[in-house]
Amino acid sequence: MALAQRVVALLESGARQSTYKLATLLALIDEAVENPVPESAELAVAIPSLAQRVIGYYWPQVRPYTTGGPLRQGWPQGSATRPDGGMPRIPRLIEEARAALRAEGHVTADRARESGSRVYQLLVRDVAHQLARNPLTYLQTPVRAPQGVTTDLLFDASGFHNSISRAALDAHGPLVLRPGVAAALRECAPLLRPVVEMTWIADIVRFNATELDHDDLAGFLFGADRSSLIRLHDPLRDIQHGRCFYCAAPLRATPHVDHVLPWSRVPLDGTANLVLTDARCNSNKLAMLPVRDHHERAIGRPETLLRDLSEASGLPVLLDRTTDAGIGIYTTIPTGTLLWRGRGSYEIHQRRRGTG
Ligand SMILES: [Zn+2]
Repeated sequence: MALAQRVVALLESGARQSTYKLATLLALIDEAVENPVPESAELAVAIPSLAQRVIGYYWPQVRPYTTGGPLRQGWPQGSATRPDGGMPRIPRLIEEARAALRAEGHVTADRARESGSRVYQLLVRDVAHQLARNPLTYLQTPVRAPQGVTTDLLFDASGFHNSISRAALDAHGPLVLRPGVAAALRECAPLLRPVVEMTWIADIVRFNATELDHDDLAGFLFGADRSSLIRLHDPLRDIQHGRCFYCAAPLRATPHVDHVLPWSRVPLDGTANLVLTDARCNSNKLAMLPVRDHHERAIGRPETLLRDLSEASGLPVLLDRTTDAGIGIYTTIPTGTLLWRGRGSYEIHQRRRGTG
């Protein structure tokens, strides 16, 4: 909790110039959740892996919000009359690559990654390089801190600097989260993630200086891609034999695609984490974490089926990430956590012996 409070204090330390730090923090939280290490261990995070997660966060955000085009992700750097409108470099790189990748037929960032596209590989390389310059250099520096004051709360940033070359970055190796930081981020993820997202929304409102609706923005910036989810309805209904994934009641007219591991804990929009439910189960479960059986049944579906669902929807499978996230979540949630089994049916989590 102490670490979470210090991270929140960093977020509150002053006005940001861009949303870079927020994207990077969310990416680090995801790394911690999906790579569960013992409580006092370090965690090595490859910079390209971090870059892929940052790309995933910006991917939906750089699409046009209105006819006015994409939302500003920072203050204009240089002249706002430049062709790029002064958009900060990372979202600009992603916006350009996204257009090219969509022309190649890749709807989501994960699908682009899975395809092995050259455009995507170059994007990862460019974003990783930019991350190493900024924000990794300044992530832990309070905005209003006197010159030279920095904290090394999360990782040793001394190897990153604003003019680091690609060669120097390659030689640097991974970013290493300090002992205990990964476990703390993982355990505080359900609290930290919404704080970072709300901060991001507030920054977008500030940068765009227009009347923006917070609720609409939250869905636009962080929601799942609705049209891809709708394409999952029919194929999911088929493989579930027309029944709700949770209660097995026959599905009626308006089923819902549910994230088994809730989006608020880990944003996994892969078919390994998606099931079809009736409205009653869906509205009862909301953002609750289900009992582990449901998650295991979801990832235990034949991989060929998950791949067929992926083909039908344009969404990735993400079986490995979903499996790892389940291990990370279920082995570390505290005893006493309320889990959802079915409509009006809950269980109190007991930590299993030998899992810490
Ligand atoms: Zn149901």
